Amino acid sequence: MRVTTRPLGSHTPTAGGLAKTALPYIDAAGSAATQVYVSNSRGWALPPGDAAQDALFRDGCLERGVPAFVHASLLVNIGSPTPATVERSAATLSHGLARGAAIGARGVVFHAGSAVDPAHYDAALKQVRETLLPLLDAPDGPLLLVEPSAGGGRSLASKVDHLAAYFEAVDWHPRLGVCFDTCHAWAAGHDLATPGGMTATLDALVATVGPGRLRLVHANDSRDECGSLRDRHETIGAGRIGLDAFGELLRHPATAGIPVIVETPSTAHEGHAADIVRLRSLHP
Ligand SMILES: [Zn+2]
Repeated sequence: MRVTTRPLGSHTPTAGGLAKTALPYIDAAGSAATQVYVSNSRGWALPPGDAAQDALFRDGCLERGVPAFVHASLLVNIGSPTPATVERSAATLSHGLARGAAIGARGVVFHAGSAVDPAHYDAALKQVRETLLPLLDAPDGPLLLVEPSAGGGRSLASKVDHLAAYFEAVDWHPRLGVCFDTCHAWAAGHDLATPGGMTATLDALVATVGPGRLRLVHANDSRDECGSLRDRHETIGAGRIGLDAFGELLRHPATAGIPVIVETPSTAHEGHAADIVRLRSLHP
């Protein structure tokens, strides 16, 4: 596999068996990094996994030198005003960490969440603290990676400077990292398309959370306008963000050595393979 300072890969399907489906997909897409769901992306069920598939996946990723990440269910919202949602979210993150450890994942990505009701904002940050601290205090295994959202619904973190309150809520715990999604940042109002815009946004991210907190990038172009609060991913270079911004992303010192995952539209592995080639051409 080609050595790159920013391992480029894609979100990877697992239906039919974690190793059985994901490893051939990783190879076909030309991925040097991977991200999987370990439970239904739009459900609360927490499947136990299959020990044999887990071991094959873990070893397969190791052999290929491919770092793996878990993406938690999209339903997770630890800022929710509904207690049952917070409880289920905590259980889902705990399950994601355990499954992530079993498959050798480096991190478990989850969306920052929203307070939904502006009046619930302070209580939501308290929930962030009470939910995350016990999980972060676990001695080893994957890191938790908070992904700023596209905004709307009184998001707890959408623009990068909002991450300060989020990290403050967990006393800047060393096991919390950041997953930066370009489509979310654009939707939240960061103008990444203007020359220098991506660089300035990443500078602001580092200024807010400090060096070493950015652990994963989701590189997605967008079908919508900057500030739209809409999260509709597009093929790299075919959306409103445009190719040049992704060049800035891959040249920024904060992304050096950091895996970059595309979550773009793809028929089988083909769209992902093309996006990985496209990104690689921007920063060979
Ligand atoms: Zn994402």
